[in-house]
Amino acid sequence: MSQPPRGERIRLAWPQLGDRELSNVAEVLRSGLVSQGPKSKQFEDLVCERLDVSFAFATSSGTTALHLALAAAGIGPGDEVLVADFTFPATGNVVLQQGARPVLVDIDPRLLAMSPEDARRKATRNTRALLPVHPFGAAADMDALMKLAGELDLAVIEDAATAFGGNYRGRSCGTIGNLGCFSFHGRKVITTGEGGMVVTDDEDLADRVRVLRNHGGVRIDGRYAFADVGYNYRMSDVQAAIGIAQLERLDDLIAALRESAHLYDRLLDGAEHVTIPPEPEWGRDVHQSYVVLLDSEVDRDAVIREMASRGIETTLGTYALHAEPAYARLGGYAPGDLPASFHASRHSLALPLYSGLTNEQVDYVSNSLRAAVAGCLGKRGRTMGEKRSSEGQD
Ligand SMILES: *Cc1c(COP(=O)(O)O)cnc(C)c1O
Repeated sequence: MSQPPRGERIRLAWPQLGDRELSNVAEVLRSGLVSQGPKSKQFEDLVCERLDVSFAFATSSGTTALHLALAAAGIGPGDEVLVADFTFPATGNVVLQQGARPVLVDIDPRLLAMSPEDARRKATRNTRALLPVHPFGAAADMDALMKLAGELDLAVIEDAATAFGGNYRGRSCGTIGNLGCFSFHGRKVITTGEGGMVVTDDEDLADRVRVLRNHGGVRIDGRYAFADVGYNYRMSDVQAAIGIAQLERLDDLIAALRESAHLYDRLLDGAEHVTIPPEPEWGRDVHQSYVVLLDSEVDRDAVIREMASRGIETTLGTYALHAEPAYARLGGYAPGDLPASFHASRHSLALPLYSGLTNEQVDYVSNSLRAAVAGCLGKRGRTMGEKRSSEGQD
């Protein structure tokens, strides 16, 4: 199994890749079938079985999965989509790329997922879809969101990028709305390097996803006819081969993530100025990341620097879309307009978490965090637009 080089800093995340991934990839390379083919189909079938969903489509990324889902749902110019504000920018970008308008929705300050009440307040007669995010592997409040969607006749597209293998009241995250999207980026629960998946139980939506993923082509009488202007958002079989091996590890990976997360929970219990993430009552949190909230008087970015000086990589939880320059400009938002999301973006901190992290490392990170927080009180947080934290995405 690949591990970070010894003696290096404690990494935020590390993918678990081993001999199975290598031999699966070798098999594909030898076969010559390297673009989308039988391995992608096998990966999709395994995902359907695992998540108990009817259709799955492997894509080139989580972002292209989201874009395909919106396109398949017919979202376009004139439409508004309610988007969770506390997320990686891709969630909002794809709405704009479809020519529709993302209407940003604040989060529940405890669960960090879309607030159903704020979503209701922001719905208009142009609203066509809800785009909630399952934050860091924990399910959003899906019953409340599905109820709202039912009342207002909205499509629900789940951004389950971080929540592969997670569940909500016994159902897999990503399979509750009309369409669900996963990411297999290197920092997600399982990885294919880059990659994603769209899942749905709706046959018509599945047909749309299938056609749009492959340039808009449908096979008629043995030749392709291009009835639609589609995309090439296919995953390659080289990536799918990695995904198949990762899927075999899924239970072990989740168990290891949860074990380290629970150890953090215990070690950080009662730590001053640190709020540990609650596990929602409705389901298993797969802990793609372990994200704590620091009190307002703690300078989060100073904590990141202090942790780095102790050899520990940390980063912000994720972004408040409304406060990022593109969204502030396009949507006329000012930083703090969505207060819970803004607070979370400025005061959240992701700690190292991956399968293979040792208990000693979790202990060292926890002790270091207590010390770093105590040393970073009372300074003013830096303002938006300044460089934040380390490399990589959310
Ligand atoms: C990672 C992520 C994405 C984007 O996935 P990519 O595979 O990197 O394109 C979208 N939304 C959320 C919430 C994510 O965490």
